[in-house]
Amino acid sequence: MYSYDLFIDGQWTKSKGSARAKIENPATGEIIAEVANATKADVDRAVKAAHTAFYDGRWSKLSPGARSLAMWKLADLMERDKEKLARLESENTGKPYQLIALGGDLPFAIDNLRFFASAARNNLGMAAGEYMPGYTSMFRHEPVGVVGQIAPWNYPLMMAIWKLGPALAAGCTVVLKPAPGTPLSSLMLANLIKEAGIPDGVINIISGDNATGQALVDHPLVRMVSLTGSTATGKKIMASAAESLKRVHLELGGKAPVVVFEDADVELVAAKASFAAIMNTGQDCTAATRVYAPKALYKDIEEALVEALKEVTVGDPFDETTVMGPFISETQRTRVEGFIDRAKKEGATIRLGGKAKAGKGYFFEPTLITGAKQKSEIIQSEVFGPVLVLAEYKNEDDAIALGNDVPYGLAASLFTKDVGRAMALSSQLEFGTVWINDHLPLASEGPHGGFKQSGFGKDMSIEAVSDYQITKHVMVKH
Ligand code: NAD
Repeated sequence: MYSYDLFIDGQWTKSKGSARAKIENPATGEIIAEVANATKADVDRAVKAAHTAFYDGRWSKLSPGARSLAMWKLADLMERDKEKLARLESENTGKPYQLIALGGDLPFAIDNLRFFASAARNNLGMAAGEYMPGYTSMFRHEPVGVVGQIAPWNYPLMMAIWKLGPALAAGCTVVLKPAPGTPLSSLMLANLIKEAGIPDGVINIISGDNATGQALVDHPLVRMVSLTGSTATGKKIMASAAESLKRVHLELGGKAPVVVFEDADVELVAAKASFAAIMNTGQDCTAATRVYAPKALYKDIEEALVEALKEVTVGDPFDETTVMGPFISETQRTRVEGFIDRAKKEGATIRLGGKAKAGKGYFFEPTLITGAKQKSEIIQSEVFGPVLVLAEYKNEDDAIALGNDVPYGLAASLFTKDVGRAMALSSQLEFGTVWINDHLPLASEGPHGGFKQSGFGKDMSIEAVSDYQITKHVMVKH
């Protein structure tokens, strides 16, 4: 049984309150850990530690080389402990250990951190020159200050790194709050942060519920709030942050379309769309959720998707053959069942799956839905489960219009062998990432973020570092 307190100012610190949260393994339903639930007073201590660490310059005034080295050391320590971290992540989330936790999340998070360690040394000003007679101007990139970072439960460690990496590279100090049910890998990271020599107070990690998050958003010494979470939470945080005009960085929900043209390779579409729908049990903001097919290919795609989804091995996350684990919680499974029931009531057909698996753990069947109306909930809302909807379109304009016709704008894909058509149409899709003939891969160098109600601000890439900086104009009179 794991047990954690709060990581404040480089020390494991007891909460000022007595509440402790029990943390569950969703594959078994067993309680595997107990962690502190940070109170408002704890948030205050953590923010003050980050504030002191920011203003005494123990991080921002280190040379970029020294900052980069400490971040790189942290990545090396994650690499050293990757099996331990992946095991914990898998126990806490139900992710297949070999395929996702160890094979996907960990190597990618380590690569993300190494990217940001390099980016810490690339803080170039735009220019310096004489723009008015008798004056020299310089444009400096200054860190924003103390950042409150609030993470979701679907990729706990990776999302922590997506937040910490650019903030640290920019010279900010942070208070990170993982999601209530999945704090373990972020708390385990705290010991590595200490070992890497990142100064005390630069990264504070506090487990807690939504009220803890709200206290962080409301704290007057926090200059910026970075959230990865649902669109509903993003709206609440943006409204609260407006009170003190804090900067907000919002990575929110998604509802990715897969638009297939007549010349596409049906087997490729089925392989990519089915995997992108069930990966991480569909609890992925970029998951493939809506496949739009032309009439000529519709039947072939339907059959190919059914076959591909039938082949997905669902089960014990520690079995090497498992491709899909359980939902994160009973609540999430019940939520997805609600979407499926309402889709049926609205006239859609459950072509495959749609049911919970018997036994312990929150397992579910990969699901294909057909016959749903474009304006129905199952097409318009984020389900966050292994549920794919297949629909038909009339012509190219219709395909793009249907793809764009949701409140979200995080990711989309197009399948065609015609590169010219793909290039022309990719610009018409209002999504932050558009894949051609694939769906899901991301690179540390690539900016990741949304259009529309998927939020704004970028994760990964050099653009993410800029989000944590403010440009200052320094004007010198000769
Ligand atoms: P959520 O919005 O319920 O919670 C996210 C975090 O916000 C949690 O830590 C929670 O405690 C905190 N929170 C909730 N209410 C708050 C408040 N009022 N003030 C401050 N903090 C508050 O989201 P979730 O269910 O944990 O995660 C799933 C969502 O995250 C999905 O919508 C998914 O699409 C999105 N997501 C987006 C991306 C992206 O890159 N755009 C990546 C991963 C997940």
